[in-house]
Amino acid sequence: MTQFHHRKLPDYSTLLSGHTPPDEVGFPSSQLQIWYNNTGESWVGDGERPHKHLHSDECFIVLRGSLVVEVDGRRYTIGPREFCCFPAGQYHAVVNVHPPVETLMIRAPSVADKICQAKEEAELPMTSNYTTHLQQLFDIQQTIRDIHPSLGKLFPVAIFSDDQFFIYDLDPTGQEYIFVRQVETPMPVPPQVRAAFPLESYGERMVCVVTGDVFDELAGYVTIFHEFVHCQQFEGGEQHVKQSLDIARQAQVANDFMWELNHPFPYMAPDFIQAYQSVLEVQTQAEIMPARRQLQEILSANDYEYMVWQEWKEGLARFIENRIKVRLGLPENQGGKEQPFSRVTFYAGGANFIAALDKAEPALISDIERLFERMFQEHRS
Ligand SMILES: [Zn+2]
Repeated sequence: MTQFHHRKLPDYSTLLSGHTPPDEVGFPSSQLQIWYNNTGESWVGDGERPHKHLHSDECFIVLRGSLVVEVDGRRYTIGPREFCCFPAGQYHAVVNVHPPVETLMIRAPSVADKICQAKEEAELPMTSNYTTHLQQLFDIQQTIRDIHPSLGKLFPVAIFSDDQFFIYDLDPTGQEYIFVRQVETPMPVPPQVRAAFPLESYGERMVCVVTGDVFDELAGYVTIFHEFVHCQQFEGGEQHVKQSLDIARQAQVANDFMWELNHPFPYMAPDFIQAYQSVLEVQTQAEIMPARRQLQEILSANDYEYMVWQEWKEGLARFIENRIKVRLGLPENQGGKEQPFSRVTFYAGGANFIAALDKAEPALISDIERLFERMFQEHRS
């Protein structure tokens, strides 16, 4: 019978537990397999062949560095203090290792049950996986396009995976999404990115950037249309509106590219909270006007510009997103309504404000520059 076992984790890769540990660090076990990787080099080279285990479940725990794993043609980055599990029977592969890396691979029961995927099955390009999903955007567009003019146009979609953008765009007929190219990501991208921006490596064209899991639910497709609204805003007057703002001009002079995210706003000021609460709640233009007047009085010129900018840019996208969700029978996005208030509060407040304006003057939301003017100085009219 084996003894109680207590060791420090070594500064090299080894088997911590298994049938025949190579040295005295490892615990001999016929049931528990734990492989410890601690290395400055990738151990998979260009990536493993996809394989599965017939009987054992497998788990990777990342302590430091990151791994990119592929499951069913989709790639996931597993970062520090994250873990992932592959159930028995599921094909998977570690396709990339970003060292220095420290990971634990645990597999149980510890039996030799590895099956490699057949080559022809394994070599289907991952790029073939998304065209069918993207094709569904055409069907959804048909049911929602009357909601707002910005839904009339579909934009390129870049799937972010393994530090790459896989760019899909409309074919020349405009009837079909096709894979066009793969480019390195120009900057660090958040793991579950949902965004729209002009992509330098794709001719500065506006691109919706998402990860492949966006297609897991219908709401994910709505997210893509939310980003398409931003693409349309960008092409249809956003720069013009931005240039009219002192806060944007000052940021440009200061080379501050993050002001839209980081502007210090007095979210905690009691008079702001009180005024903004009614922007979040009231239903009509007449009811909202006193609160708007009050906001302009209590906020500095920069803070007021910042608020209206967020309300217009994200509030419009949220307003359209929620109209789509109602049409498709999905719950509306209500994020940002609760205290403590934040930038996201303006997404909810902007959507509510726009809904009130839309009730009074339905043509207004189709002209997004005029919509901004009205949101900016609604209290004066
Ligand atoms: Zn948005």
